[in-house]
Amino acid sequence: MRTFICFVPLGQYNNHEIIFRMFSLAKLSYFACSDSDKKWYNTVPKSKIEIDLGPCCKILLSNTTERQNKLKDFKVCALAAQSGHLDCLIYARSLGCKWNSGTCNNAAENGHLEILKYAHERGCPWDITTCNLAAMNGHLITLKYIHEHGCEWDKTTCKMASAHGSLNTLKYAHEHGCPWDKGTCEAASAFGHLNTLQYAHEQGCPWDIDTCKMASNHGQVNTLQYAHMHGCPWDASTCEVASLSGHVNTLRYAHENGCPWEATTCDLAAMIGQYHTLRYAREHGCAWNMDAYILEFLKIYPPIHKYALEQYLREPSALGTAGGLYYFRDTILEPLDNNEPIQAFFVMNGDVCADFPLDEILNMHFNYSNRSYHQQNQPVLVTVMATETTREQSVHYGCMVVDKETNVIQHYVEKPSTFVSTTVNCGVYLCSTRLFDTMADIHLEISNNNGSFNQLCTPISNKNQQKTTDQVAVVMWMEQDVLRKLAGQSRYGCSSSCDDRLSKIKTKTSMTCGLALAATTNNWWSQLKTAGAAIYANRHYLGLRQQNERFLHVKTLSEFALPSPIKLMTINPESCYSIIGHVYVHPTASVHPTALLGPNVSVGAGAYIDQGVRIKESIILQDAVIGQHSLVMHSIIGRCAKIGAWCRVEGSTTCSDPNPNVAFAKMTPQLPLFNALDGRLNPSITILGCSVNVESEIVLLNSIVLPYKTLTRSYKNEIIL
Ligand SMILES: [Zn+2]
Repeated sequence: MRTFICFVPLGQYNNHEIIFRMFSLAKLSYFACSDSDKKWYNTVPKSKIEIDLGPCCKILLSNTTERQNKLKDFKVCALAAQSGHLDCLIYARSLGCKWNSGTCNNAAENGHLEILKYAHERGCPWDITTCNLAAMNGHLITLKYIHEHGCEWDKTTCKMASAHGSLNTLKYAHEHGCPWDKGTCEAASAFGHLNTLQYAHEQGCPWDIDTCKMASNHGQVNTLQYAHMHGCPWDASTCEVASLSGHVNTLRYAHENGCPWEATTCDLAAMIGQYHTLRYAREHGCAWNMDAYILEFLKIYPPIHKYALEQYLREPSALGTAGGLYYFRDTILEPLDNNEPIQAFFVMNGDVCADFPLDEILNMHFNYSNRSYHQQNQPVLVTVMATETTREQSVHYGCMVVDKETNVIQHYVEKPSTFVSTTVNCGVYLCSTRLFDTMADIHLEISNNNGSFNQLCTPISNKNQQKTTDQVAVVMWMEQDVLRKLAGQSRYGCSSSCDDRLSKIKTKTSMTCGLALAATTNNWWSQLKTAGAAIYANRHYLGLRQQNERFLHVKTLSEFALPSPIKLMTINPESCYSIIGHVYVHPTASVHPTALLGPNVSVGAGAYIDQGVRIKESIILQDAVIGQHSLVMHSIIGRCAKIGAWCRVEGSTTCSDPNPNVAFAKMTPQLPLFNALDGRLNPSITILGCSVNVESEIVLLNSIVLPYKTLTRSYKNEIIL
């Protein structure tokens, strides 16, 4: 008690109560009180005297070794500045405590001007942070003092004032020559301070898309609106950040006011579990790149997973290729965003790959009625992509007899037992919406006949029955049921050549009369029925990509690296690896300069190809790693799979390419997966499932490895479960 009593009279009025800010007897005696006495003191009714006992006071008043240690560093002065205890600061200095810019910073941050003055006048250093902290907390008078006494400031000072929304502070800084940049607008925008944003913009402070992005990211509709209405640019990222941060309000404002969005808006929301923004975007027509991988991932967000399943049309049971379409006809026929009715829609089987001539199919479908030789004014209900095969191969497909002049399909047989035609169905259809009328008839016939649809002339029952059976899910095939019916109709025409009974029905259901056309192409086309076919398809798609190089160049030059055949290619200046033939490497994949890729190699996003690696005729999926000096041939390496160093992963090309010497030959069906004689795996390409780990120096030949396996020895012709 005897040594550290130090009187610093300093009182101030605050809400008409006197706060004693002195290192006073009051503080000392309060500090000496027991806990129960302190409690009593704190609860004195209408206490007029407030004892402000801060951490600085406690250190200074206590008499422990802790005190001795703390007095040696900068802490006590900083604490006193923070609490605004000038008495503590003075006493601490008298005890020899050091100070640094932290003391000034704490005083500035809390607006304790008297402390700042005391410290600065006695040589305590300050720096640019001192200015910024005063601005950040809107302490105009403190900022003035600091600036007038020669402390530096920079563009952060304006940004901080703007973020605090303190217009006077921003004005003072700007008018006194403090620089600013687009960060000032961004800060105002992010924190929703319309006044500072407006001031900055009107005084010529620059802004760009980041201003909109910041407002959007923080759900600040008012600043987003101000920026947009005053000409601040925005782009798809404005929607993306709103979606990511879950702010429906800014997403809505941006969308309703014409801000573009892309599928990433939905994807990002889904990936991070922002259900509300995902729903808003989906319900307002934003696309969604959802694939099975994302769907699997979404299981951790049950509401989004459920929503995703609703977004995919799932048949209640397997309804056949046309049954599913018919079941969801209302959804398919929903008008487009601009309320234009749907005229026609494409249906594509999922197991075909091709150079799809979609424009030609569209042209044929819609121009047919303009031609002079069309028959009976029948509308075209469906146009089928068709191709030629060899006589032998044709029986494996849906065969069509096509009128060479009109392209009308006259006869259709699915996988005939004897030869019908070399023109086969490619599994790609352009359907008019009126095709649903035909499907309705077929649907009725099938449900009436318990599946024996063949009796085309079954009388149509009354409408009530039609209504009820309409609700029943019925298996219906595009090939066997729909195309065969349409082909039959065109063959006999719609009226006269039918027998009496048929023509009666035809008159009754004349709405459903129509034609099927075949759009025959010589473009590359193949079914994709086996894993080996993926390597084949990869080769062709890489080739197509090369063909379309010019087109791609114009559209997405920055996104795609476009190697040319048989030459060394520089993908980026630091890493120039060698390629042969057609190779695609995702821009985010990394390939060591000593690796050699090609021909026909696709490398997915984030994959890593180490030094000395050789890859040909293979697909490397995303985030896979191929270790040093390993060889990969005729293989598919799954997502996140890891192959060690000096490995050999090789498959066989038994999946034969079409014979180039036979016109129209298609890829021949591969050997069955298992050998019928010994039950072993027939040689095939090698496939590694996702996250498979192959240790170093392992040989893997013609094998299929299921996901998440770790291989510690070599395998040949095996399925590793
Ligand atoms: Zn204190």
